[in-house]
Amino acid sequence: MSATVGTRTGLVEELVARYPEVPPEAVLKEDMLRTGIAFDDDALTDNLDGAVKPKSYFIFSFDQKPLTELGAAATQRPPEEIALSGGPYELERTIVSVRLNPRSPYRVDRELRLSLEGRDLAEVTLPPMPEYYRHTLANGKTVMETAPTIEWGYLIYLTVLRLCQYFGAHEECGFCDINHNWRQHKKAGRPYTGVKPVEDVLEALELIVRHDEGATHAYTLTGGSVTSTVDGLAEADFYGRYAQAIEERFPGRWIGKVVAQALPKADAQRFKDYGISIYHPNYEVWDKRLFSLISPGKERYVGREEWHRRILDAADVFGPSNVIPNFVAGVELARPFGFETIDEAIASTVEGLDYFMSHGVAPRFTTWCPEPSTPLGRDNPDGAPLEYHVRLLGEYRDALARHGLEPPPGYGEPGVGKAVFSVSSFMDVL
Ligand code: SF4
Repeated sequence: MSATVGTRTGLVEELVARYPEVPPEAVLKEDMLRTGIAFDDDALTDNLDGAVKPKSYFIFSFDQKPLTELGAAATQRPPEEIALSGGPYELERTIVSVRLNPRSPYRVDRELRLSLEGRDLAEVTLPPMPEYYRHTLANGKTVMETAPTIEWGYLIYLTVLRLCQYFGAHEECGFCDINHNWRQHKKAGRPYTGVKPVEDVLEALELIVRHDEGATHAYTLTGGSVTSTVDGLAEADFYGRYAQAIEERFPGRWIGKVVAQALPKADAQRFKDYGISIYHPNYEVWDKRLFSLISPGKERYVGREEWHRRILDAADVFGPSNVIPNFVAGVELARPFGFETIDEAIASTVEGLDYFMSHGVAPRFTTWCPEPSTPLGRDNPDGAPLEYHVRLLGEYRDALARHGLEPPPGYGEPGVGKAVFSVSSFMDVL
């Protein structure tokens, strides 16, 4: 019997062997995203003073412990992402978003080696500090806080509203720590702007344009849902005003995306008119019962069937391939509400994929990170089974092929060794 039976190493080895159609790069990436990574203290960054790009906390915490339990990583940030290569699986370059978990079996040491339960697994390359992070806005704010970049510098992530107006246990999505993350950063005295002024965003983008050497390709406007108004504006006009200002100042420089509620068609048209080309009205989880339990705010303010109808209506506005609703892969297995078996969870998720893809709309997914301040993270600290995540990658690829669809636009090149999307492996396997 192998010495690795019953260990995480054994699980990874078993799944790599059982699902040869999924590359080992993706199996490891999914496991690191659901489990988090530990860093030796001397593998952390020197924040904005060093040579490595630090974790920006671009929207959620994406950590598996609160800031107060992260030790040195709370004051010396970890890198935003890491790139894996080599090792016993001879990995091609694989970019993984950093989710901290001091108790993770995955550890990065000072020699920049990744190990799993002490066994050497890969070389780690850290993201270099981009020149634009070394400059500040006239008011002293940092580019990292105002307009951080992720996906190895491909995407500018503009969380212009750091709070969600779905509030409290009866409205917030059960996997989401946006409001908690805002509170914990404020409490720690970190700069963390609730509503980003348009002028700040433009100034930060100016610095990016001046110094990025063409590396950024897209921006995402996002934040919490707006159920009333912010700055006197309803959701379409609140997020739209940033797109309008960006497109006026830097016409066509980037692919403009927005993550927002599924809004009525006239509002989707407003996004388009403001200059947005890709719309993410995220449906989070497909199953009817789970949607109402896991995303009670979405159920209450819009309702599942209407949400789905609006996704398809938006396809008339943007074109089907430019409507890319996200779901959070894994929450369909979360206790106490989730499916009992991986088979049921996969069947339900694939039903959702077929529904949207049969209309030409290709969803995408992020890998669930069980953040401890959320109800689902608290009850499921280990996240969903790795086998679910591995099987989903194959199912997603098969579903795209079944419906004759291309990989979604706005994520760069697909494929092992080329993908930059860092919070799930869906692009790595296409
Ligand atoms: S809609 Fe849900 S996932 Fe989005 S910010 Fe609000 S609570 Fe979080």
